[in-house]
Amino acid sequence: MSEHRHRATLIPGDGIGPAIADSAAAVMDAAGVKMDWDVQPAGMNALERCGDPVPPSVMDSIRERRVALKGPITTPVGEGFRSVNVTLRVEFDLYANVRPCVSLPGVKTAWPGVDIVIVRENTEGMYAGQELYTGADRSSAVLVAFNTRTAMLRICRYAFEYARRNGRRKVTAVHKANILKKFSGILLTCFRETAREFPEIATEERIIDATCMEMVRRPQIFDVIVTTNLFGDILSDLAAGLVGGLGVAPGGNYGDNCAIFEAVHGSAPDIAGKNLANPLSLILSANMMLHYLGEHEAAARIDAAVRDVLMEGKYLTPDLLPGSRYGTTDLTKALVDRVH
Ligand code: NAD
Repeated sequence: MSEHRHRATLIPGDGIGPAIADSAAAVMDAAGVKMDWDVQPAGMNALERCGDPVPPSVMDSIRERRVALKGPITTPVGEGFRSVNVTLRVEFDLYANVRPCVSLPGVKTAWPGVDIVIVRENTEGMYAGQELYTGADRSSAVLVAFNTRTAMLRICRYAFEYARRNGRRKVTAVHKANILKKFSGILLTCFRETAREFPEIATEERIIDATCMEMVRRPQIFDVIVTTNLFGDILSDLAAGLVGGLGVAPGGNYGDNCAIFEAVHGSAPDIAGKNLANPLSLILSANMMLHYLGEHEAAARIDAAVRDVLMEGKYLTPDLLPGSRYGTTDLTKALVDRVH
């Protein structure tokens, strides 16, 4: 275990965020990782406290520390402030959103043996576009969105390099270039160009709708997937559902010299403050952060503790074990007890 003290930003976030952030920090601590957290508000809680959902202090902290663990943030639907997540991704140019979806022992699912990594372009496409209402009384709306060669080439390169680094065999490009010939086609052109530099890795091209169908029919055929922003967001929730739901789906947002790790799920306001939140998604995201920080051994021990607790099947939150009387704090304690 490294003696190095890692300086990172911790954003507890909204809803269940603070409870699962406490849980993740406790498990890392129990694993002996020395973290020097700078705890920063962002989201609804920051808006209420400081009048700004993304206060300058959080941006300064990430700018200086270059690594953050972030709880989920509530985003008002249809009105209100721009998504904090989108702001952070764009500001720090976190262009690669990596979401591994792996079958875990003890988690009941329709399919065993799923091991998919979705590499989603994070800075362009529909989510980075400009929206406006047109016509009288908001009778229509337009979105102006773009995908650039620069961003498509770098996300494809990221996916192939990820595959090479992690001994993966195949990268699938997911697109809708049969209809969106230019907007989606630009990913395909860049994918084909990049693939030439990685001859040992098999390639495949699939249309988004057919991909969704295959993913629920034969998820084991997928390995690494590279895709654009909106498709990546939807596909990674689909893939998370295949391996047991949002409660066990981690994510990392990587740029060239900064990374922010976060759970795939949202702030779950329906269960906030009830000790019902499953912290595993954020804990597994923290594990991705530990790998990023070079703490591979501690990450492996946390991963083993997670598998152990899941196999035992006792101290699980109700989303994993319907009717369970155990909550966030019990699951955290079970992990802390095993991770030493
Ligand atoms: P959600 O993921 O918060 O919740 C969907 C369902 O899953 C709810 O029933 C919830 O109780 C359950 N759930 C989610 N995480 C859970 C966990 N860890 N343990 C147990 N159950 C869990 O999605 P939503 O309700 O559509 O969104 C709520 C808010 O979160 C919205 O404001 C949305 O914009 C925001 N959001 C934030 C992020 C993020 O910060 N990365 C991601 C998605 C949604």
